[in-house]
Amino acid sequence: MDAVNLLGFDLTGLAAYCEELGEKKFRATQLFRWIHQKGASDFEQMSDLAKSLRDKLKGRAHITALPVISEHVSADGTIKWLFDVGAGNAVEAVFIPEDDRGTLCVSSQAGCAVGCRFCSTGHQGFSRNLTTAEITAQLWFAEHALRKRQNTTERVISNVVMMGMGEPLQNYDQLVPALKTMLDDHGYGLSRRRVTVSTSGVVPMIDRLREDCPVALAVSLHAPTDPLRDQLVPLNKKYPIAELLAACNRYLEKAPRDFITFEYCMLQEVNDAPEQARELVALLKHKVSCKINLIPFNPFPASGLVRSTNARVQAFADVLIQAGIVTTVRKTRGDDIDAACGQLAGEVQDRTRAHIRMVRAPVTVAKSA
Ligand code: SAH
Ligand code: SF4
Repeated sequence: MDAVNLLGFDLTGLAAYCEELGEKKFRATQLFRWIHQKGASDFEQMSDLAKSLRDKLKGRAHITALPVISEHVSADGTIKWLFDVGAGNAVEAVFIPEDDRGTLCVSSQAGCAVGCRFCSTGHQGFSRNLTTAEITAQLWFAEHALRKRQNTTERVISNVVMMGMGEPLQNYDQLVPALKTMLDDHGYGLSRRRVTVSTSGVVPMIDRLREDCPVALAVSLHAPTDPLRDQLVPLNKKYPIAELLAACNRYLEKAPRDFITFEYCMLQEVNDAPEQARELVALLKHKVSCKINLIPFNPFPASGLVRSTNARVQAFADVLIQAGIVTTVRKTRGDDIDAACGQLAGEVQDRTRAHIRMVRAPVTVAKSA
């Protein structure tokens, strides 16, 4: 039997595994703390763990990060790692330091099946789901590498956003134990408000997340109407805007924050007209408690799309703000290292494996009613 990577277990899973080995459940808590709080990967290091358990674990289990293909450090301190997940696939994680927090952006899949028009990951198509171990390994590796680098035993990463490659809610079963490890007081002890799942709108899974592991929710909206959203986010054909917003309101009943963050990628002359901002106000105001995060489009060659000018972003934001909707414009961080959704991994894949690019028609701009 293959040795099992213990990064794949949340505490409940690890307790079950320890029981299988004939060990007391509380041993799992000790082991879990060694792994996640101390970053240990060698069972011999775990000095207060019963020798009998250490002996059982050797050969049966291991604690292993993903191989690092590359590391890029931006002038603004942003760090981007590209990890090898086998078969020519790579995923990335990005660390974004700010004065009052350290955020890690984590990937959930190699590629993505949703195929959003403006997304480099979407253009690569879907390769496979990451395992819980591969999702958790990104945080485990980044947290402990950063602590060593900063010569500290204090926590460096305070926030996690599932905004790397992939649609987290299309990899639900592997995602949830990774979230639980992030939240666990014996793991990373992150507050539910500081762990964000970002989704393109997988309605049934939003409902399940509300029951199983309510964390902060970001929803990638990108358009105020169904005809335009159908083109930008193809999943909209299955779960149109009205159903999505209803799911957001159900989520809010149990969410750790009293608002949903709507992400809106600003595409020049596609979704960025003041009239579309007014449509967005009509759609959301008094209907869903929310904040809007405008993201300047990060261009890549195959997209055929253009980033909105700062003036257009500002004019769009002004309409929302005047209507009383809290609106932020995302700072572009790590621009010099391409630290945006799927960019670098896309380049690596272009070099390492032949893949079929999606052939796409240009986006037709929906006429406002
Ligand atoms: N699949 C999830 C999470 C990963 S994408 C989702 O779609 O929400 C994280 C965010 O980056 C999403 O809001 C996505 O729309 C946005 N994004 C993707 N490609 C982008 C690009 N080229 N420029 C700016 N934002 C982009
Ligand atoms: Fe997938 Fe999100 Fe990219 Fe859309 S934006 S293709 S859902 S990763």
